Amino acid sequence: SQRAGFKNMPLVDFTVPEARMAFPEAIARIRTQRGRTWPLFINGREVVTQDAIASYNPADPEEILGHVCQAGREEVDQALQAAQQALPSWRDTSPADRAAYLFKAADICRRRVYELSAWQVLEVGKQWDQAYNDVAEAVDFLEYYGREMIRLGTPQRMGNAPGEVNELFYQAKGIAAVIAPWNFPLAISVGMVSAAIVTGNPVIYKPSSLSSLVGYGLVEIFQEAGLPAGVFNYCPGRSSVMGDYLVEHPQISLIAFTGSVDVGLRIMDKAAKVHPGQDQCKRVIAEMGGKNAIIIDDDADLDEAVPQVLYSAFGFQGQKCSACSRVIVLDAIYDRFMDRLRDAALSVKIGPGEHPGNFMGPVVDRNQQQNVLAAIAVAKEEGRIAVQREVPGNGCYAPMTIVEGIRPEHRTAQEEIFGPVLAVMRAKDFTEALEMANNSRFALTGGVFSRSPKRLEQARKDFRVGNLYLNRNNTGALVYRQPFGGFKMSGVGSKAGGPDYLLQFMDPRVITENT
Ligand code: GLU
Repeated sequence: SQRAGFKNMPLVDFTVPEARMAFPEAIARIRTQRGRTWPLFINGREVVTQDAIASYNPADPEEILGHVCQAGREEVDQALQAAQQALPSWRDTSPADRAAYLFKAADICRRRVYELSAWQVLEVGKQWDQAYNDVAEAVDFLEYYGREMIRLGTPQRMGNAPGEVNELFYQAKGIAAVIAPWNFPLAISVGMVSAAIVTGNPVIYKPSSLSSLVGYGLVEIFQEAGLPAGVFNYCPGRSSVMGDYLVEHPQISLIAFTGSVDVGLRIMDKAAKVHPGQDQCKRVIAEMGGKNAIIIDDDADLDEAVPQVLYSAFGFQGQKCSACSRVIVLDAIYDRFMDRLRDAALSVKIGPGEHPGNFMGPVVDRNQQQNVLAAIAVAKEEGRIAVQREVPGNGCYAPMTIVEGIRPEHRTAQEEIFGPVLAVMRAKDFTEALEMANNSRFALTGGVFSRSPKRLEQARKDFRVGNLYLNRNNTGALVYRQPFGGFKMSGVGSKAGGPDYLLQFMDPRVITENT
């Protein structure tokens, strides 16, 4: 089923009454299902385990949204067996037929967009627009990777020597483990899973334990799309019980991971070891952290720069690997920028994402709240607090914090916090600002606000990150328009939503026939 050219799903428009009314309705519908226990999904069937954990609303931890069955090693073995059985025929299903399942899945997500969004509002504390955009990104991944597979699925004729025909084509690597994060709980899950599936690799999907209910959405989507049994297996589980087991398993050929640098490096280390019965080198696709900077040049348009920095730093509570966590301000504009940033930061409302007036909400759980509070304590020692907002007492809130006087050697300038904390650094000129920006082990996103073509040119050359944004916010990369991902300690350099992504999930083969 060929589809017309790729287009991104439009982002939500709350001036449309239908969109405005749909959210509270969808949220209320989810609340009627509270208390359910959600099974695993292996080989096309639901599997119930004795071990289940509760998933709660971070805005109100007393609100239990559901219980999620946890896979142990036995269930991982079952899933691997199912995937192994599914592999030969799935690998040999034509690229166009595999893509057709993704297109069906995209239609299903579009139809269920409000329900899929509402789960995120309740389970991870997203604002309405953030949640909707995540679902829209999931749709984009499905639509884009489907088309990409059709493009790559046509064998390429190589060379032009007479007397021989050379054909280059790609085949699935084997069974994929997909280990997904909670911050873009549908989009990044669907992106990694659909890439693996459409390239012919059956999947064992381990959602984050903080967003396993959102992750269950994939079961419903792929089941309704009619995916053959064993191609997609949903296995939430405790990392300590089954995480390493899955990664180290000799039957796993590739691991697609998005999350922290610590976990990513651990996966690479484990994946490098060969275990008895293993007959291939594992491929790891890892997208990890960021410590992203925006530079404010001395001629920056502050009407643009101030709200965009605020959004990049505090949208979804700064829990994006793309988020701005350092703003580097040139001396000449420093006081003017800071006055306005402070005013803007003090003007926004903070509270549960389910109420649309709130700009910022809770962080994802108690644990993350503790981590962010500890980082704020460090920031207070290293710098001066410019803004620290009050937050609601109940719920997993961490205060919106802006701290001045941070220098490159500070921990606050180097360590990823993954929360609503923005470090402000002062630079004497643009060249020093670029040096500060690059002074990081991460290289994910970056931004510059400047009206000077010369400075923007200098930034293009010397601001070394995977995604550089000039005169706009740092987050919200769109599939196909801004292929997303970084290098250095931010990842292995793959670009999700870009033309090279699917190649990582396949092995190229060449057949030469002497004619
Ligand atoms: N792609 C997202 C963005 O551009 C960030 C993904 C992440 O946080 O892992 O904002």
